[in-house]
Amino acid sequence: METYIRSFILFFILSITLTVSFSTVDGKDRGKFLYEETLTLYKSLVSNNQKSKKKEIWEVIGEAFYSVYISYPNSEKAPNSLFLAGRVYEEIGNRFRSFEDHSKALRYSREFVNIYPRSNLTDDSQIRIARILEKRGNKTDAYIAYYKIVYDLPRDDMYHPAKKKLKELKSYRPSRSIAKKILNRGIGRITKIRHWSTDNYTRVVIHVDKEMTYKSNFLKADPKTGKPPRLYVDIQKTEIDNTLYVEPITKGLLDKIKFGKNQPNVSRVVLYINSFENYKVFSLTEPYRIVMDIQGAGANPDKIFAGNNSKNKKYKNNKDYKYKPPSGDIDSLKQALGLKIKTVVIDAGHGGHDPGAIGPSGLKEKDVNLRIAKILKEKLLRDGGKFGIENVYLTRSTDRFIPLEERTAIAKKRNADLFISIHCNAAKDRRAHGIETYILSFTNDQSSLEVAARENATTTKKISDLEDIVQEYLLSSKIEESNRFARYVQGSIVTNVSGKYSKVKNKGVKKAPFIVLIGADIPSILVETSFITNPTEENRLKSTKYINKIADGILSGIKKYVGENQTASIVEFNEYQL
Ligand SMILES: [Zn+2]
Repeated sequence: METYIRSFILFFILSITLTVSFSTVDGKDRGKFLYEETLTLYKSLVSNNQKSKKKEIWEVIGEAFYSVYISYPNSEKAPNSLFLAGRVYEEIGNRFRSFEDHSKALRYSREFVNIYPRSNLTDDSQIRIARILEKRGNKTDAYIAYYKIVYDLPRDDMYHPAKKKLKELKSYRPSRSIAKKILNRGIGRITKIRHWSTDNYTRVVIHVDKEMTYKSNFLKADPKTGKPPRLYVDIQKTEIDNTLYVEPITKGLLDKIKFGKNQPNVSRVVLYINSFENYKVFSLTEPYRIVMDIQGAGANPDKIFAGNNSKNKKYKNNKDYKYKPPSGDIDSLKQALGLKIKTVVIDAGHGGHDPGAIGPSGLKEKDVNLRIAKILKEKLLRDGGKFGIENVYLTRSTDRFIPLEERTAIAKKRNADLFISIHCNAAKDRRAHGIETYILSFTNDQSSLEVAARENATTTKKISDLEDIVQEYLLSSKIEESNRFARYVQGSIVTNVSGKYSKVKNKGVKKAPFIVLIGADIPSILVETSFITNPTEENRLKSTKYINKIADGILSGIKKYVGENQTASIVEFNEYQL
């Protein structure tokens, strides 16, 4: 093997092993750097006749792309790396007539379609799958693979080539029932189990590479066997990836997570629970995952107040009321009741390979969101202390991808008292403009559903699947508080911005089923700061002055909400003290 390739491998292995644990700490996208290095080598390989005859050089490049994707899953370039790994192996298969390398290309391309179902490279990966199957003579399978492009990914640029292929392969068209069987063929794999815990809450997320039905069940503690309460899901037609690693549970409600085969082709994931109040299980798609939320018994301020309320009601109109508790006691009681708002978590929407909406001149939503989030954090750290804010956290402080359900879990893990997700709006009609703030709920309003579909990275059709889940969470999601919080934030942004800018449209407070707000159970809002697709608003979003105005608006909204909340709780406290 040539020396330059050998030194590249050495450099590559060192880079990955030395930096993987620090990659997110220094804020630089290490994966992107390695991807670009590999890409340069790949390009030079393609253009060099001599080198390109050597199969092992191709293999090194293919593996290098794949390991960037595996080692840096949050990198902006993770999807491109996986995509090119598939492409390199297809090329190896073609050049060296190797069946195994084509199989690898198929595996990587299928992985791409599963993990990134909505990327602009999804249709290219899918057409590679079809092409290789066709080359192998599996004409019916190839037909189905092309069919998937025409019917599942119809807006992409592979639509016409795939449609042409369907005509060509017409005689291989399977009957409807066979097609259905083939599409569902194969069993899914459980590829990842992640979890987040506080003393009072646990969220477990199970990733399955195909959409499979599941059943969840709860088992009471069994004194005979000494087993604690258990919550489990049985996932049909799946097996567990043999490389699956689950981080041990270190605190909170869970004792341990166990997983294994329950019956042939049924995988079971069991949570051994120390204590709990209630649980919920639901699934999300694209990529498919099953979420298990467990809430512990404990300091739920609503419950404590509800209990106190009835007991103290009769004293409410007591005119002889004179007692004024020392302020230190108010503080500690408010804290005990969870009324004190100390911790704010700010979520900059999108990131990494998910750019969010893109403006007419190319401005990316993920970058604007992060800038606003950082400015808001700074302002809150500077001024928030005056009204009781002690901690401010971001869900991400760099350009990296975080799944929606993880953002809520981060807020819970930080013991947040308020949660704000920051976004930019988008519409096909470039004239659309304005500011709107959302809280979690259902809606029949088509435009709100479209906003939620875009932010959930799904279709409006799939949004209706969320209805049952949202229904279950509404009871605990502080709708009234969130609504009040949203009104203040929306109002202050509009006032602040329209003081300096013209044609600022107040689109008001709205409701929609946002995944990022599901399970937060604290006042939570999602702010659509402006339309990035509107040329005027896109231009404004580029200016520091404008986004400072937005951040100031959110800050005043928080201040107003917190101020009112503190006063209200003092009044309530005094009443209950009678
Ligand atoms: Zn967004």
